[in-house]
Amino acid sequence: MQVIENFPLKNLNTFGVAANAAWYVDIRDEEDLGALFSQDRWKNCPRLVLGGGSNMLFTSDFSGLIVHVKIQGIRYEVKGDDVFVTAGGGVVWNDLVNFCVENSFAGIENLSLIPGSVGAAPVQNIGAYGVELQDIFHSCRAFEIASGRIRVFEKEDCGFSYRDSVFKSALKGLYIITEVSFKLSKIFKPELTYGAIGDELQKRGITKPNIKDLSTVVSHIRVSKLPDPATIGNAGSFFKNPVIPETQFLKLKSDFPEIVHFPATNGYIKISAGWLIEHCGWKGKVVGNTGTWKNQALVLVNHGNATGDEIFKFSESIIESVNAKFGILLEREVNIF
Ligand code: FAD
Ligand code: NAP
Repeated sequence: MQVIENFPLKNLNTFGVAANAAWYVDIRDEEDLGALFSQDRWKNCPRLVLGGGSNMLFTSDFSGLIVHVKIQGIRYEVKGDDVFVTAGGGVVWNDLVNFCVENSFAGIENLSLIPGSVGAAPVQNIGAYGVELQDIFHSCRAFEIASGRIRVFEKEDCGFSYRDSVFKSALKGLYIITEVSFKLSKIFKPELTYGAIGDELQKRGITKPNIKDLSTVVSHIRVSKLPDPATIGNAGSFFKNPVIPETQFLKLKSDFPEIVHFPATNGYIKISAGWLIEHCGWKGKVVGNTGTWKNQALVLVNHGNATGDEIFKFSESIIESVNAKFGILLEREVNIF
């Protein structure tokens, strides 16, 4: 383990924006973390934990220590119909998904092709196509920076909610997730509620999809709709879908009958943020070096040389116009540094 000074981050964030870190270290196991944070110097300086850099925007250089989690390894244990799969925090999320799909461990397939690392997945309770991490999460191990101790978080400790958890709120920056355990199943119950999945299965003439079919179909839809960060910088959905009270929704619906919405919990309504942004005229718009993606207005992109600050300011323009037209304040999903 070696701490490197003045480290470039451009290739370590999927927006591809240029920024430097004052210091950078990569971590291969829990012992590395113990050794690093036994030194007061690192315990007391600003820190940022980095996985795949696919959910962050650097708006300036980072004047502290970047801790890049690269802990590897996947193992599993079968108990009856349940399969407990455990992966290191630095495992690439989609490598874990592929491992499970190949072994017919069910439950994770709708989360195919989400970029990033296993360790970051609980942070925002990643979700796609009707499945959230919390549906398959069993527990995780996390290093507490202040004490140098490992704590095991069970599902009920994590405060999971829509694109959120304690790791993104109350305990933000206090723990480093070193490994995550998932409870999957040998019994496959396909989650097919999202329309795009049914449409794609029908196109392929598949009436009874297996785990692999579902993973393939989800991956295909994602590739066709989302920009590949390897060719065009982005961090996926830049904003969360707003969840509003029914009374507010009914008022909006009378002004905008076509508004795309879905029932959420406790009588609240989830509104498609992409629809709101599109209906403010932003879809596919290019502004300087940034813009929104032509197939999905919720995704902000770097057209080449955008700075993080430029992307951030562009996101402010979107927030202002959506608020002016619909009276809804969009919240950023991407972590801003
Ligand atoms: P990073 O961006 O490196 O970090 C994200 C946050 O987690 C930061 O605050 C960081 O400090 C913290 N963090 C990272 N690792 C750890 C750790 N080991 N311990 C503690 N904290 C940590 N997200 C979805 O939910 N659903 C999607 O369908 C989806 N699709 C996407 C599609 C594209 C094209 C892109 C670019 C992004 C998409 N995302 C999606 C967002 C992103 O992929 C996820 O949020 C992913 O979990 C981020 O992982 P990461 O390793 O890149 O995290
Ligand atoms: P989409 O299918 O065009 O749908 C637009 C929005 O409507 C989505 O955000 C989704 O909410 C919601 N939605 C659609 N069908 C729904 C249903 N049957 N029940 C409840 N809500 C429904 O969205 P998309 O942009 O192509 O994304 C597809 C999936 O991948 C979504 O789940 C999305 O969250 C996920 N995704 C996430 C990111 C990210 O960075 N977070 C990036 C790309 C894709 P939800 O977002 O709550 O699912």
